[in-house]
Amino acid sequence: MLSIDLTGKRAFVAGIADDKGYGWAIAKALAEAGASICVGTWPPTMRIFTKSLERGKLDVSLPGGGEIEFERVYPFDAVYDTDDVVPADVANDKRYVKLSGYSIQGVADSMKADFGDGSVDILVHSLANGPEVQNDLLDTSRPGYLAAVSASAFSMVSMVQRFGPLMRPGGSVVSLSYLAAERVIPGYGGGMSSAKAALESDTRTLAFEAGRRWGIRVNTISAGPLASRAARAIGTIERMVEYYEENAALPEANTADEVGWAAAFLCSPLGSGITGETLHVDKGYHAMGMQAEPQLSAE
Ligand code: NAD
Repeated sequence: MLSIDLTGKRAFVAGIADDKGYGWAIAKALAEAGASICVGTWPPTMRIFTKSLERGKLDVSLPGGGEIEFERVYPFDAVYDTDDVVPADVANDKRYVKLSGYSIQGVADSMKADFGDGSVDILVHSLANGPEVQNDLLDTSRPGYLAAVSASAFSMVSMVQRFGPLMRPGGSVVSLSYLAAERVIPGYGGGMSSAKAALESDTRTLAFEAGRRWGIRVNTISAGPLASRAARAIGTIERMVEYYEENAALPEANTADEVGWAAAFLCSPLGSGITGETLHVDKGYHAMGMQAEPQLSAE
């Protein structure tokens, strides 16, 4: 029987702070398929995440039985490429001061020290940050726009640059995008739509360059709306979920698990022919050109 088997593979999933978002669902699906999971957690959320894990507050159960056990949880801040560029005020902030090695290169180095060369098969970028996301693009400042693109798009380029050399041929990179990359989504502001457009474009270019250099694949999933912690910052996420339920090709909300399953497929040998792709996992909403209801009558 054809099945998704990731036994013996190791994944680094960046962008998990609770059990409500897409990163968690992807980690769960990869673990269910047999992969070992290492997690990258943003330093400001590190304490709450590790405490919630220790206290059994997160849903670690796997559908087929058993529980997710994380091999490592690394502090990870995707806006810093190397440890030496972290500004002093951040390094001394109370949420960072007891941590070290949380830049992208820092975590790649830690994984190399912990597991050796050729020890990563799957790299997941499930993170975004746009400090001015609630501002229209017309009202976005230059620092706000650049911060969105830095945290949400260049972070993926930097992750592939720095983890690529650790990855085994046949490895796979997946990130999370959104329809705002290609269509106007009112309210998704602050340069976040621009960041997602860059992420999708970079997915194609990185697929070519990393494919030739390391024999790995690079894809992105354009996911439908989900009321995660990050999405609540947009301010209208519940209404967006309802709107998709009313108007998508399949009239129901997409689940985080469906995104997890798609990521597991893309990262598995079953996806070996797919790279440079933006895969929509949104119940077909992206294909619609008009509101589903009310339909135009023929009068
Ligand atoms: P989430 O809150 O579960 O994940 C976002 C994570 O990004 C958080 O864990 C946060 O701590 C982390 N993060 C923020 N800045 C960071 C930084 N500088 N370094 C490292 N980590 C950082 O929310 P989510 O909605 O599941 O988001 C995951 C991905 O899915 C994002 O790329 C998001 O844009 C994308 N996405 C979300 C939706 C949605 O509606 N929720 C739709 C399409 C795409």
